[in-house]
Amino acid sequence: MGEEQTRGKIFIVSAPSGTGKTTILKRIVKEIPNLYFSVSATTRKPREGEVNGVDYYFVSIDDVLEMFRKKELLEWAMVHGNFYGTPVWEVEGKINSGKNVIVDVDVKGFMKIKRKYPESVSIFIMPPSIQELKERLLKREGKSTFDEELKKRFEKATYEMSFRDLYDYVIVNDNLDRACNELKEIILKNIEK
Ligand code: ADP
Ligand code: 5GP
Repeated sequence: MGEEQTRGKIFIVSAPSGTGKTTILKRIVKEIPNLYFSVSATTRKPREGEVNGVDYYFVSIDDVLEMFRKKELLEWAMVHGNFYGTPVWEVEGKINSGKNVIVDVDVKGFMKIKRKYPESVSIFIMPPSIQELKERLLKREGKSTFDEELKKRFEKATYEMSFRDLYDYVIVNDNLDRACNELKEIILKNIEK
C-alpha cells in the first residue's frame, strides 16, 4: 500500500468586483508551489485576454443545465445577471490529490463552501476606498462613465463589503505588492499548519 495522501487546503477569496482580486490571485498562484486556481464555469462573456479553461469555463445556459443534471456543481450563484458556478472536480479533484486550491467566489459562494468545508481558510480583499474602486472598475472596462453594468457591480460591492467580518482574514489592496505579500503570508502560514 502506498503512503496516505494528505488532502490539500482550500482558500476562499472574495472581493468586490474591481478591487484587484484577479490581479493578486494570478501573481500568487505563480509564486506559491502546489497552489492552484479553481476554474469556475460562467455564462459571462470573456473579457479581453481571458482564456477558456484557464480564467473560466465560458459556457452556455444549456451547458449549465447539463452540469446541474449531472450534479457537477459544488455551489453556484447568479452574479450581476450571469451564472457562476464551481465544478465539484475543481475543488474535490485537486484537494484529494494533495493540491492546495484557491476558490474565487462571491459572498454567497463563500458561505456555501465554508459550510461544506469548515476547515477552509477565507480571505476578504477590500479596495482602499469607494472612489478608488470606481476608478478601477472604469479602468478595467476601458470606460469613462458608469453604465448599467458598472452600476450593478458597484452596488453589489457595497453590499458585499458588509460581510467582510465573517471572513478569517481581511486585507486591503492599496499597494499591489504589499497586498500580494500579505495574502502570500496568510496562505503559506496555513499550508504549513
Ligand atoms: P477584480 O478581479 O477584483 O474584479 P481586477 O484584478 O480585474 O479586479 O482589477 C481591476 C483593475 O484594477 C485592473 O485594471 C487592475 O489592473 C487594477 N488594479 C489592481 N490592483 C491595483 C492596485 N493595487 N492599484 C491600482 N490598480 C490596481
Ligand atoms: P467577474 O465577472 O468579475 O470575473 O466575477 C464576478 C463575481 O463572481 C466575483 O465576485 C467572483 O468572485 C464571483 N465568482 C466567480 N466565480 C464564481 C463561482 O464559481 N461561484 C460564485 N458563487 N461566485 C463566483
